[in-house]
Amino acid sequence: MPALTVRLPVPIAEEWDWQLSAACRDTDPAVFFHPDNERGEPRARRVRAAKQVCRRCPVRDRCLEYALGSSERHGIWGGYTEDERKKLRRPVR
Ligand code: SF4
Repeated sequence: MPALTVRLPVPIAEEWDWQLSAACRDTDPAVFFHPDNERGEPRARRVRAAKQVCRRCPVRDRCLEYALGSSERHGIWGGYTEDERKKLRRPVR
């Protein structure tokens, strides 16, 4: 009889511990998630502000890895917008 291997899920706390070091912990979440109908310069300004926070974030790689792995559709994660993450996910031809 073949050996049965059981893979237990990673404990929840470990899965999310990286967020404790996030540079955005004390930043208004509205900086990372656009309101309905936001366009043009207001949107560009908000995105720049969010990316500025992400640039100094010690867990940026982990954040981006999470967003790509979970197909996060909204917000700025790891310093990348929704559209920029879509391009990262596209296979290279
Ligand atoms: S990379 Fe940006 S969105 Fe992700 S945890 Fe850091 S500051 Fe927050």
